[in-house]
Amino acid sequence: MEKKKINKAEQILVMKFGGTSVGSPEAMQSVLDIIAKEQPVWKGIVPVVSALNGVTNLLLDSAQKAASGERFVIDANAKELHNRHQVMLDKLIESDVEKRKVGWEINQLIGEFTNLVEAMYILGEASPRGIDAVGSLGERMCARILTAALNERKIKATAIDSTQLIVTDARFTSANPDETASKKKIKTTLLPLIEKGFIPVVTGFIGATPDGVVTTLGRGGSDFSAALLGAALPAGEVWIWTDVNGVMTADPRLVQDAQTIEHLSYREVSELAYFGAKVLHPKTIRPVIENNIPLRVCNTFAPTVSGTWVVSDKSYITEGIVKAVTAISDLSLVTVEGTGMLGVPGVAARTFEAVAKTKTSVPLISQASSEQSICFTVPIEAAERVQRALEVTFAGEIQRRDIDKISISPAIGIVSVVGAGMRYTPGVAGRIFTALGDAKVNVIAIAQGSSEVSISLVVTQADLKRAVKTLHELIQQDQGGSK
Ligand code: ASP
Ligand code: MG
Repeated sequence: MEKKKINKAEQILVMKFGGTSVGSPEAMQSVLDIIAKEQPVWKGIVPVVSALNGVTNLLLDSAQKAASGERFVIDANAKELHNRHQVMLDKLIESDVEKRKVGWEINQLIGEFTNLVEAMYILGEASPRGIDAVGSLGERMCARILTAALNERKIKATAIDSTQLIVTDARFTSANPDETASKKKIKTTLLPLIEKGFIPVVTGFIGATPDGVVTTLGRGGSDFSAALLGAALPAGEVWIWTDVNGVMTADPRLVQDAQTIEHLSYREVSELAYFGAKVLHPKTIRPVIENNIPLRVCNTFAPTVSGTWVVSDKSYITEGIVKAVTAISDLSLVTVEGTGMLGVPGVAARTFEAVAKTKTSVPLISQASSEQSICFTVPIEAAERVQRALEVTFAGEIQRRDIDKISISPAIGIVSVVGAGMRYTPGVAGRIFTALGDAKVNVIAIAQGSSEVSISLVVTQADLKRAVKTLHELIQQDQGGSK
């Protein structure tokens, strides 16, 4: 595996710290240690922070509740916001002057919270624009605390609201950044600060319209912020600090000996995210990958573990064929079946048009080559709705017996095996079926992505955990062979 060699003394490191990484004084101490350790190594450091964990939820919840008439939450939640942040100040900042200064700034922001939410209560309505104004406050408070804590350690830092950096459209609550306009602002704002030896502590999640109205990039959007900054500066590397040791070979709650994956390609990350692994959202890291900037996912609570490196698909060399196994549960398999479907064009199109009208998403599709059935998965709670819609669409065919039945299955799951190396390795599917057969897992349907980066299998919900464990053993065999 080749990772680009870089001269760190000439490069900028962007580090994003997620909600749990800044969520307690102890966690924030480790953040400070991490920054202090990296600062002398790099030309510049740009930390991007989330809100303290739970704070964004609290803010958004307050807005909803106030708008629906619950007045008491305003004061109660303002108090809670105050307490959460005050504990941080008390534990992290010694100097009275600094503590008072930041304490004042935080109180201003909480004052803003109260005014906004009060207005929502009076109007009985929380507009998307108002929701973003409230939702952005968590990151703004957090950036100020980290800045003060760095200053206290005699590390020159300054808090920057990313409203100054990230230009977006006005699609409040999930705004789209204008990458060209943002790049200009990011460079002209941050580079001079870095030149002067400052650490700009940037708020994640937030942007602003060209007129300066606050927007947010959608839940979990801080990764996206870090990626946009990384691509614009550009950074030598982008590190995403979280609370696990990178991306795992399987959900550790299902598979005890799940391990950290050392290297993943962008494509693999996308497949993993699609098939239920709680990893990086592919959209959020695209700017970094497109610019060929290495991205690392690492653990604030175990900073010496190297974590997972995500690299572009081109610079990718396989190590192990099957990289990860994921699972999605609580689905139903819908089957449209009938001998009269053979060679009739348009059945698939009409099927999925009917499904789309029910606003249901379809994670997996498979058609038998005999064209006598199409099957696909939907969330189980949508299954009956989808079945009814199809019965209406195909009422004529059902009457003529061209379609025999439209059935929905009891709870099923999808287990997916992901690994770009599968493309170059014959026999992977064979190994998968043999392993599942030996484990007495019945495979109901299969689908392979055309990119050959993943193979997905439908199994009963009862078999799902066993299927994941069984397929995870293939990873260990692959690694055993290559090391
Ligand atoms: N604080 C925001 C959220 O909870 C953004 C983020 O954490 O990435 O969604
Ligand atoms: Mg988060």
